[in-house]
Amino acid sequence: MTDQFDVIVIGGGPAGYPAAIRAAQNKLAVACIDEWRNFDGSRAFGGTCLNAGCIPSKALLESSELFQRAKQEFATHGIKVGEVTLDLAAMQKRRASIVKTMTGGILALFKSNGVVGLQGHGLLTAANRVEFTAPDGTKSALTAKDVILASGAAPIRLKTVPHDGVHIVDSWNALEFDAVPPRLGVIGAGVIGLELGSVWRRLGSTVTVLEATEQFLPMVDQAIAKEAMRHFKKLGLDIKLGANVTGASVDNGVVNCVYSTAQGEQKLQVDKLVVAVGRRPYTQDLLAEGTGVKLDPRGFIQVDDHCRTSVPHVWAVGDVVRGPMLAHKGKEEGIMVADLIAGRFGEVNYKVIPNVIYTAPEIAWVGQTEEQVKASGRAYKVGSFPFAASGRARAMEAAQGMAKVVSAVDNDEILGIHVIGPLAGELIAEAVLAMEYSASTEDLQRTIHAHPTLSEAIHEAALAVDKRAIDGINR
Ligand SMILES: Cc1cc2nc3c(=O)[nH]c(=O)nc-3n(C[C@H](O)[C@H](O)[C@H](O)COP(=O)(O)OP(=O)(O)OC[C@H]3O[C@@H](n4cnc5c(N)ncnc54)[C@H](O)[C@@H]3O)c2cc1C
Repeated sequence: MTDQFDVIVIGGGPAGYPAAIRAAQNKLAVACIDEWRNFDGSRAFGGTCLNAGCIPSKALLESSELFQRAKQEFATHGIKVGEVTLDLAAMQKRRASIVKTMTGGILALFKSNGVVGLQGHGLLTAANRVEFTAPDGTKSALTAKDVILASGAAPIRLKTVPHDGVHIVDSWNALEFDAVPPRLGVIGAGVIGLELGSVWRRLGSTVTVLEATEQFLPMVDQAIAKEAMRHFKKLGLDIKLGANVTGASVDNGVVNCVYSTAQGEQKLQVDKLVVAVGRRPYTQDLLAEGTGVKLDPRGFIQVDDHCRTSVPHVWAVGDVVRGPMLAHKGKEEGIMVADLIAGRFGEVNYKVIPNVIYTAPEIAWVGQTEEQVKASGRAYKVGSFPFAASGRARAMEAAQGMAKVVSAVDNDEILGIHVIGPLAGELIAEAVLAMEYSASTEDLQRTIHAHPTLSEAIHEAALAVDKRAIDGINR
């Protein structure tokens, strides 16, 4: 193996591996180093997203939703089935097999693009030097003209809630349970906590979610958050807001969790407790002494808008730098950097990053919430459309939620689009494209949407902004 490259990427997650592929497409000699190890000791590219995040969680969300729909909804469609029972082992096998296929796919992509994939540890020793440690401990000194750091993030652990990986667990453990916990506690009503809580609730757990803040989903448009809370309650998630967990211990296989609320100290007994309070940038053993790469006070690698670190020719992308911890945000940063290194144009539009919560109904948004626009002082108008009035949603037995458009009064600019409803994560792509192309609300109003489709809800919400909705009541 050569030890000289144009670009070395440290980290093969959704920020690092696309950077490596794009750099290779730009005719640069590239190596991508990744140290990910699964619980069984196997190694895989793909990082958190493919191995322990986006993909396995979506596999279980899909399976558990189907399980619930088969039990509760098929009869409404006039479909009679026998008793619907759960084969969790088969469900988990499917999840594992999807992960394996997807992570294996990265190796195939590396091969076809000519990226050298190195499984092991990478340490930046100087601006253009990386020490690679292979799984057998062999070290090699590699050089590159440019280095891209994409080491990702790790779950935040709470000192007062000691992780043991069996009873007190993180999100990765919670994706690999081999039995449905009768009582599940989740600390944190964020995206990950709500998705995992939904999975296990649908499969039969009694789920209690403890959230320290008083406001539910503060980053979400509050009309959407209110609607979401209603659906989560209906699902049976017991979400306690203003519940500050002060400690937990395991006794005889049972987790005793203590939390405080305005009413005083409370206790919760569960079989498993998932800590889902957020993720922190991961830079352990990434930077040797004296590299000059600066971290910010929260531990993120400091970068400018183009992901340049404090050291020339060292770049950083993905969860390890500022901005939302989302796979697609990291991917775009990786691609941008690989293009900039090759002397091409590269840019990430941080104002137009879609967010999705894959619960049922799904929640998705792009741009500003109504609350944010209000706080900015800009005059705005709002239109919304309920899926209850959508023929397609009715046909799908999924007529829940709404689409909402927030627009500027002065120039009709679309400021934010928010959806809670069936396939919201797919619907938001149209909103992203509209905002990326600086479409006005009128542009969206004049765009033909196929009938009957769920996308008509966004069309009608755009019309409702000017009180011109056809299939909904204009308020
Ligand atoms: C349960 C869960 C569900 C999620 N669902 C979604 C979702 O639906 N959509 C979404 O957009 N995001 C989701 N996320 C977030 C998403 O997984 C992350 O934003 C994304 O993985 C970040 O990509 P990254 O490449 O920056 O880091 P990572 O994916 O964490 O990859 C970093 C890689 O670098 C490796 N590494 C670190 N240091 C070194 C080193 N020194 N040497 C070699 N290798 C190293 C790590 O082992 C890892 O493989 C989810 C996260 C979780 C936990």
